[in-house]
Amino acid sequence: MMMANDAATGAGQGKEVVLTVDDLAVDFNVARSLAQLLQGRARQKLRAVDRVSFAVRRFETLGLVGESGCGKTTLGRALLRLYRPSAGRIDFLGQDLANLGRGELRSLRSDMQMVFQDPYSSLNPRMTVGRTIGEVLKFHDICQRGEITAEIAKLLDLVGLTGAMAGRYPATLSGGQRQRVGLARALAVRPSFIVLDEPVAALDVSIQAQILNLLKDLSDELGLTMLFIAHELSVVRHMSTRLAVMYLGKIVEIGAAEAIFSGPSHPYTQGLMKSVPRLIPERRHREAVLKGDVPSPINVPSGCRFHPRCPLATDICRDTEPVLTELGGDHASACHFAEQAQASWLPTGSNE
Ligand code: SF4
Repeated sequence: MMMANDAATGAGQGKEVVLTVDDLAVDFNVARSLAQLLQGRARQKLRAVDRVSFAVRRFETLGLVGESGCGKTTLGRALLRLYRPSAGRIDFLGQDLANLGRGELRSLRSDMQMVFQDPYSSLNPRMTVGRTIGEVLKFHDICQRGEITAEIAKLLDLVGLTGAMAGRYPATLSGGQRQRVGLARALAVRPSFIVLDEPVAALDVSIQAQILNLLKDLSDELGLTMLFIAHELSVVRHMSTRLAVMYLGKIVEIGAAEAIFSGPSHPYTQGLMKSVPRLIPERRHREAVLKGDVPSPINVPSGCRFHPRCPLATDICRDTEPVLTELGGDHASACHFAEQAQASWLPTGSNE
């Protein structure tokens, strides 16, 4: 199996690797207009995830960040085979998920769970909270029938809700309560790995901190292994053991969260960090550091795909695509000038 480097593979970090993604690609067909159909134009493909490799070790949280349209949700969904990969491998518990059939996938589903961004649409409005969780317990044969009510109460307690919530319908719950139910449903099957897809993005700011604290506590208490997808670095900062930054379908920087937060080496990561809304009230403003929008994945820029937006771009950036390269320790970057960019990064606060 070919891997870019230790930071991507998680090699040499001393913990068992739970999930290894190798050279994974996900393509979608682009719909043709009537005119294009009449002209007999060939169907175009859009590559949402472009040959991505990384690993997740047991008990760690890998934060996956990038702006909307970078492919991070597609990647998370492909890991659970909600999308079929076009190429590459997903090694999980000794099996290649990318190439399993439906029947084989079903038996692995209980080991891998997803918590969705929108707690409003991810719950069945006609089912009570108790039934929502109970159905999962029954389907995956988690406990004896006579133990289901007690197990539901235990799960609700785990996510900070009372057993009385079991009789409530989603419509009567707040956004934060619904996300807690979504979390209880995911934990019900005692998964080895959880994908959290922007789990606080749809919630009020005041509720976000509560859910993030709950996730952190659960992660420490239960020893969870998670991929935490977010578009803001501030959200993953206190959750992540390691961090992967994604841009236009590629991972452009990956490594120990501490190493990246203290010395980001990719201009895109630096732009994301500078545009984080400050956590302290007097500086809670967003700086327009990243110019322009993420280009369309149908027309990926030549060379380094970040070059049209990069303040450091030179000719080599326009011509030659950089590959993820180890910088030392658990840290790799896909930038021709990673070391210079990192050296120019000043301690937090001085770059503003
Ligand atoms: Fe910027 Fe060039 Fe580095 Fe790409 S390779 S991030 S364009 S400096």
